[in-house]
Amino acid sequence: MSAAEFRRQGHAVIDWIADYHERLESFPVLSQVGPGDVRAALPADPPEVGEPFADVLADIETRILPGVTHWQHPSFFAYFPANVSGPSILGDLLAAGLGVQGMLWATSPAATELETHVLDWLATLLDLPDRFRSDGAGGGVIQHSASDAALVALLAALHRVTDGRSEHEGVAGGRFAVYTSEQTHSSVAKACRIAGLGSDSLRLVDTDPRTLRARPDRLRALIDADRTAGVVPVLVVASIGTTGVGAVDPVAELAAIAHEAGAWLHVDAAWAGVAAVVPELHWLNDGLDAADSYATNPHKWLLTNFDCDAFWVADRTALVGALSILPEYLRNAATDSGAVVDYRDWQVPLGRRFRALKLWAVIRCYGGEGLRAHVRKHVALAAEFATWVRTDDRFELVAPPSLSLVTFRLRAGDDATRALMDAVNGSGEMYLTHTVVDGTTALRLAIGSPWTEQRHVRAAWELLRARA
Ligand code: PLP
Repeated sequence: MSAAEFRRQGHAVIDWIADYHERLESFPVLSQVGPGDVRAALPADPPEVGEPFADVLADIETRILPGVTHWQHPSFFAYFPANVSGPSILGDLLAAGLGVQGMLWATSPAATELETHVLDWLATLLDLPDRFRSDGAGGGVIQHSASDAALVALLAALHRVTDGRSEHEGVAGGRFAVYTSEQTHSSVAKACRIAGLGSDSLRLVDTDPRTLRARPDRLRALIDADRTAGVVPVLVVASIGTTGVGAVDPVAELAAIAHEAGAWLHVDAAWAGVAAVVPELHWLNDGLDAADSYATNPHKWLLTNFDCDAFWVADRTALVGALSILPEYLRNAATDSGAVVDYRDWQVPLGRRFRALKLWAVIRCYGGEGLRAHVRKHVALAAEFATWVRTDDRFELVAPPSLSLVTFRLRAGDDATRALMDAVNGSGEMYLTHTVVDGTTALRLAIGSPWTEQRHVRAAWELLRARA
């Protein structure tokens, strides 16, 4: 593609995206295609002769869009949000245009230094403890996802608890345990599998039936039983904002028990953590000054395109110790000097994109003020939705509303609740998902699209009531 053609098609793509955002509401939120429909609309074989890019763009409209679930739709209330924004999209485009691979400081110093700097900025905006900042022993890095963050936290914890033996000897002969609440995201179980500990190493800590927060007394009992049996506690994962109902664990208490047993304390705040950008929600950070690592996803609720998980460690020694391998072909003067950060040592893959650009663009273009307005709006809308649920006695809240998440159900029971979900999702007018709390089905309304206004939440409630 010539530069002139790239320029022309590039303008067309930006126009297309801007138009798409303007007509989001014209689409059914949940894609209505069946399995295989999208592939059936595509040619069986790749083209032998190159086609014009305009044909690709035309196919986006006709062949791809029908198979898209519109995550940015103002009536998308499923899972947790995956925000995008103009500055983030443009930042990502710039990263694609530069096409650098920032595995080492030397392979593109700006990619590394901007990332370190922007994560320090984000730590400031979220009022995180100083121990996570890069000017001390700690520091931040962008991971693909909160799942990667949990995995690298586990590898760092294994490194620390075995004095580095886990990298050489593996973990086959060891008996290690990882602890987390029964409400915690499945990424922790996956990390145990990938790290070779196996899912049997995972101990699920009971939660308080009312708040669904992990119970410190249960954690202590599990750890004591393991230590008596010669099992080594490696990692405790606390959640700030569980996936099901947005519960916030008592981090300080869990951290104290973890540290007493020599275990690492990782905090998974994938969705909720970014809400601490708002001063009245700084309580979300309670206990973080005792955490060894912390993760939150700007790609969920802070206007930044997937993928962008912000991960901080209080002391980078164990992380780098667990993940650093320096083959000859990567050796360079900057690395040898010890004066630079090589982010390949902070993550699983070697290669890495220039993801800091999109987060930098978001923080600069919105400023603290804009980010606070974004979070506050969704939290206020969720609070309003919860008051409506309370006024209709066919419905009940399953847990107290958490930030922008409301979990509720029909009193008529599981079947009725699921049927209601299928009915509203099938309508194409809104999309929400479910969870199971205490053995019963509950619906989750997670507000997070930058395009969501009060009228969309009101319409969702009216539809739920009408179909109930
Ligand atoms: N942790 C929590 C609390 C989550 O809610 C999720 C996803 O929703 C994850 C982890 C996994 O996030 P990711 O897709 O970034 O791996």
